[in-house]
Amino acid sequence: NLSTKVQINSNDEIGSLASAINDLSIELNNYRTNRSELLANISHELRTPISYLKGYAQVIKDGQYKDEEELKVYSGIIEKESERLAKLIEELFELSKMEEGIINLYVQSIEVEEVIESALQKVELKAKKKNISLLYETEKGISSILTDGLRLEQILLNLLENAINYTEKGSISVETKKCKSGICITVEDTGLGIPEVDIPFIFDRFHRVEKSRSRHMGGTGLGLAIVFELVKQLEGTITVESELGKGSKFQLTLPDELQKKSYKNKN
Ligand code: ADP
Repeated sequence: NLSTKVQINSNDEIGSLASAINDLSIELNNYRTNRSELLANISHELRTPISYLKGYAQVIKDGQYKDEEELKVYSGIIEKESERLAKLIEELFELSKMEEGIINLYVQSIEVEEVIESALQKVELKAKKKNISLLYETEKGISSILTDGLRLEQILLNLLENAINYTEKGSISVETKKCKSGICITVEDTGLGIPEVDIPFIFDRFHRVEKSRSRHMGGTGLGLAIVFELVKQLEGTITVESELGKGSKFQLTLPDELQKKSYKNKN
């Protein structure tokens, strides 16, 4: 039984062994609690879209709709919820692979500017639809770094998509600078902001400021958890500052070169 503690009667080697065993059992218990919390979260997250799918499929099957228009709305919900479900499963799989440390990094010399521009291009249409302007500013002399360019783009896309999703009006600006530990990239928006109480948990799996808002956007609550893991793999750091109603600023730092040599090179 892991809740049984080993009694510590001495300060010698046996005493420290007993204390190490006690620490280990606390850690194991925490791990078990986290794991069952995670499983509860996952099953809840999977159950919700499935109940929508079932409900609306039944409505359609039983012909409980007024007209073609309503039928279109209901099938639209089914389509959207299936997409969300697929995204959720894919992201869960990706997260678990990353946490097990089984992702391959393809490290190359990449032009930071090119990666940022490519990410900005991909979200341009989405921003345009909401009338949000995208701004990009870079310090002179930002050159290439040794990292995984596709992973960096994935991080930026997640941050940019969130910025667009959670901004009603205004702009999103990306800025790059040289900094002590390598390069700093900030993604700042003039959006809804994140309440102070949520900030410490914002990179946790399934943590959302407002569930219904995120659901409406097709969110899974896993985007920032993936960002956090990816940043870790790239040996960087990520922090956030935010003010409710004013906007959020995510700051990413990446080293000029990865220290860990366990990555695969493309060639
Ligand atoms: P989701 O799929 O819900 O967007 P994320 O992990 O990407 O999941 O983000 C977690 C939560 O953090 C979101 O539900 C949202 O409430 C909040 N959030 C993330 N980015 C921003 C942002 N730029 N502005 C305001 N809130 C944000």
